[in-house]
Amino acid sequence: MNLKINLPAVRLAGRILAVIAVINSMVLAMSSGFQAKSPNKELKLDFQLKEGRPVYSVKLGKDVILEDSSLGLVRSDSDFTHDLEVTDISKIKAVSQEYSLLHGKRSNIKHKANQRIVTLQNLQQQQMKIVFQVSDDGVAFRYEFEGSDDSGKLSINSEVTGFAFPEETKAWLHPLHDSKTGWSRGYPSYESHYVIEQPVGQPSPYAAGWAFPALFKVGQTGWVLLSETNTGKSYCGCRLGQDSTGGVYRIAFPQAAEHRGPIDPVAPSINLPFESPWRIVIIGKQLKTIVESTMATDLAEPSKITDTSFIKPGRAGWSWLRFGDNSAELKMQHNYLDMTAKLGWEYLLVDCNWDKLIGYEKIAEFAKEAKEKGVGLILWYNSNGEWNDFAMTPMNRVHTSQLRNEEFKRLKDMGIAGVKVDFFGGDKQATMQLYLDILEDAAKYNLMVNFHGATIPRGWQRTWPNMVTTEAVMGMEYVTFDQKNADQQPQHCCVLPFTRNVVAPMDFTPVVMNRRIRNVQRVTSGAFELALPVIFESGVQHFGLAPFEAEKLPQQVTQYLKTIPTAWDQTCFVAGCPAKDVVIARRKADAWYIAGINGEKEKKKLDLDLSFLPKGLNGTLITDDPAEDKLLIKDINISPDKVFNIELAPYGGFVIRCK
Ligand code: CA
Repeated sequence: MNLKINLPAVRLAGRILAVIAVINSMVLAMSSGFQAKSPNKELKLDFQLKEGRPVYSVKLGKDVILEDSSLGLVRSDSDFTHDLEVTDISKIKAVSQEYSLLHGKRSNIKHKANQRIVTLQNLQQQQMKIVFQVSDDGVAFRYEFEGSDDSGKLSINSEVTGFAFPEETKAWLHPLHDSKTGWSRGYPSYESHYVIEQPVGQPSPYAAGWAFPALFKVGQTGWVLLSETNTGKSYCGCRLGQDSTGGVYRIAFPQAAEHRGPIDPVAPSINLPFESPWRIVIIGKQLKTIVESTMATDLAEPSKITDTSFIKPGRAGWSWLRFGDNSAELKMQHNYLDMTAKLGWEYLLVDCNWDKLIGYEKIAEFAKEAKEKGVGLILWYNSNGEWNDFAMTPMNRVHTSQLRNEEFKRLKDMGIAGVKVDFFGGDKQATMQLYLDILEDAAKYNLMVNFHGATIPRGWQRTWPNMVTTEAVMGMEYVTFDQKNADQQPQHCCVLPFTRNVVAPMDFTPVVMNRRIRNVQRVTSGAFELALPVIFESGVQHFGLAPFEAEKLPQQVTQYLKTIPTAWDQTCFVAGCPAKDVVIARRKADAWYIAGINGEKEKKKLDLDLSFLPKGLNGTLITDDPAEDKLLIKDINISPDKVFNIELAPYGGFVIRCK
């Protein structure tokens, strides 16, 4: 064969092909990325496919909040993290909803966001969707698979979702203890102090990583709170992994030893169609956006309980904090019932070992007696003896469907108002299922639920509003255990409103008035303690107050404790900084409660902008007498047009109740 090659023509054709290739790749590049802005246009999400890998980044105004951060899931039968192509990008859709909460920081909520969905296809032609929603207070996204499969063979082996922070970012993080460590092998139980203002990139002290929610400050640009919500029975609870080299934090799964160890897999088993929990990135220029955000409930499924009339937020007396495991006996409980009834509180929580110290028959009689005084009983349960070594009883009554239903029916017949279930076993899918099964069954028998030794609720306070509160915090009990914890209490209490309590109700069990608690010296002031039930949101607030303290309270303090709400119509962040101080105002009907605490051992003058308040409010101020260790109480008028000045004592506080 005689080939005559026209070299210039070949070169020209080659160039044309190269130009076409460039144009093609430009077309592909354009169609494989998109942007979505928040309704107020301040937040901008950018999605791109980079060499077949999906990434997202986020800007607040012109400034970077998150750099290119990885996305994707590895399913047992396929990989959705690399070699992907974009097959569809939806148009921007404005989504909006209005909903009510029975308890929480706000009773009526309007939520608006811009939604965009990208469909990605892997080399096996399998598809995954990522749904993004950008609201004025942040970015959320979740993974979805279509199709139909309930064979039980599919699982999610890992998730590569990352959050890449700029170098100058600082973090306030909750180290998550390793599984099956700690007292009675009870960890992880979300009971640690936070690391404060740590440069990003430092590893967690534990292999288990960092618990949600995690707070970050990106230079001078703004604040970010990472968490997750709407976790159902089809996933595990997630956390951030131990390693964050380069400021890149990644979603991690529970540890293998959690729950019942090898019996329960780490990888969640899924059916198709499938929706993952939402990954939420709450973002604000100011901390106000973080503290007031309702994103955790905005993205949770609506209530599954039709008749919610049995769910009544309220205040509870509780002997355990001061008198421990053997205090659930009748004499002590009568003493606490008297205090609870006198204060007009709705509940008395009878803690562990009541089944042995009082017994089912006598507790039923006691429940009747309490009811006559207008008080409902809440009874304690050990979730199971199997995943840890806690010996407190009743045990093994709520971990299987049959036993749980028998027990809950018995409680309903006895007129019990709620249960506190303690000592859970981690964050595996099996544990998430147990939490949700308990809520569902409790609802059938009109029981409210308080989880302790537990994970953070992931939007469950909306979906199952009978979940009135949850511990998942290093609470007041730790202050009573050890002087070191007591010394850290002021600072710790000034971290929680910016972190843990943003996403869900929190059972810290506040208010101790004695200087000495067991062998520990409390360092917070009296007014600091009295401010806490306003600073901390909990659908049922279990007070640490003992009857001998309640008797000694000034009349105005008793009046305050009698009226304090535990479900709020409105919450306003007023001032503060994590670990230093915080001032929060909350409203119920026409009554405002404004409370502040000082996390530092130096007195401080605060100039507060209360211009959001209506005019003509009168009420009572409870604060610390700077001269001595006692309360200063006075009548007060608030003018919203003037700056409100208040001086806080070292580790001091204040609370105002006004109408
Ligand atoms: Ca605990």
